[in-house]
Amino acid sequence: MAERADSSPRWIVRRAAKAAVAGALTALGIHHAVRLVRRRQAGGPRVLILSYHRVTPDFTRSAAESLPSLLTSAATLRRQLEHVARTHEVVSLATARRLLAEPAQPGRRGRRPDVVAVTFDDGYADNAEHALPVLSRLRVPATVFVPTGYIGTDRRLPHDRLYGSLGELFGRGIPLERAGVAAPLQTLLSACAEPGPAATLDRLIARLPHQHLVALADALDQALGRSERELPNGTRLLSWDQVRVLHAAGVDVGGHTVNHAVLANLPLSEARREVRGCAERIEAEVGERPRHFAFPNGYYTPAVQRMVADAGFEAGVTIEDEENRHGRTAYGLKRKVLWENTTLGPIGWSAFVATCNLGGVFSTLGLSRPVPGVRPDPLPDPEADPVAQGDAGSAGPDIRAAG
Ligand SMILES: [Zn+2]
Repeated sequence: MAERADSSPRWIVRRAAKAAVAGALTALGIHHAVRLVRRRQAGGPRVLILSYHRVTPDFTRSAAESLPSLLTSAATLRRQLEHVARTHEVVSLATARRLLAEPAQPGRRGRRPDVVAVTFDDGYADNAEHALPVLSRLRVPATVFVPTGYIGTDRRLPHDRLYGSLGELFGRGIPLERAGVAAPLQTLLSACAEPGPAATLDRLIARLPHQHLVALADALDQALGRSERELPNGTRLLSWDQVRVLHAAGVDVGGHTVNHAVLANLPLSEARREVRGCAERIEAEVGERPRHFAFPNGYYTPAVQRMVADAGFEAGVTIEDEENRHGRTAYGLKRKVLWENTTLGPIGWSAFVATCNLGGVFSTLGLSRPVPGVRPDPLPDPEADPVAQGDAGSAGPDIRAAG
């Protein structure tokens, strides 16, 4: 979150305390014990799936103008990947999924190494410009999840637009309750107001359906006299040519809906159009049907999982920071979201913090808590909706089968 990215004395002290705790835990060898606990929980080797967003040459500079919690500098990406590769075998998402499809083997210790897979969400242009060189040099396979309606356009994603406008309101000292947008949207914005732009954005995304988010982004642009095209260059998304370059370099191209819509907040018929439309577009542009899907903002419902399976995807990934267990559904794979500060000590890179964060030490000890992504299914919409009708029974593909 943006509010966590600052270098105020308060946050430096907090990070120093965290690094000291991480150092003490590592010195005691707690991370080794946690690894064994986690392997037992997983029912086999740990399968750690990382989720990145933007990769930038200069974190501080980019963080001053766009959502910091989406940013990792190319140098930190390299260090994080090198760090995790020391204790994990780096594999593709397809290999990780196949490994997880094997049934759990409780009690069997096994010598198979833990594995890590690397993914990027949202299809930012910097994935081709700054992440690909790092991935190529380290020979790390990766998956990039793209919202197809934005790729190859100069449009910007709703979260970047809203963050830009909220940042301007906070910067100008304008209370969100007086943002100057029309009544229904103003009420929604006021209800989601938090002390900072990133926290407010989190709340808006969790609560509002996609069309309200876009309407609010439009209204705020108008009230502030700005356009999405004026947002920082770093918020640009990939062109289709860049997507093809990534694909030719061995990067797996996955689906992330057409409009980056939070599927759990949509009527099912619209959600299905988002999932299918995105698969068809990727196939048309890249020449290969996508195999993996990332639920925007990590939110999903049982019906959404089924429609992703129906559209031919072999797996769906969330951003729930939990252990992946062998033999469970492939349509709710857990990922750990990383950004610049995931491995930050008081002033710079901290190997201790990296070991504890990536090894799940903080979460195993209850020092951090995962946010669940599963939501209840929405009511079926007026359009005849076989997916919704099938919910009560068990029609459709078995999303429990991980294969
Ligand atoms: Zn996304």
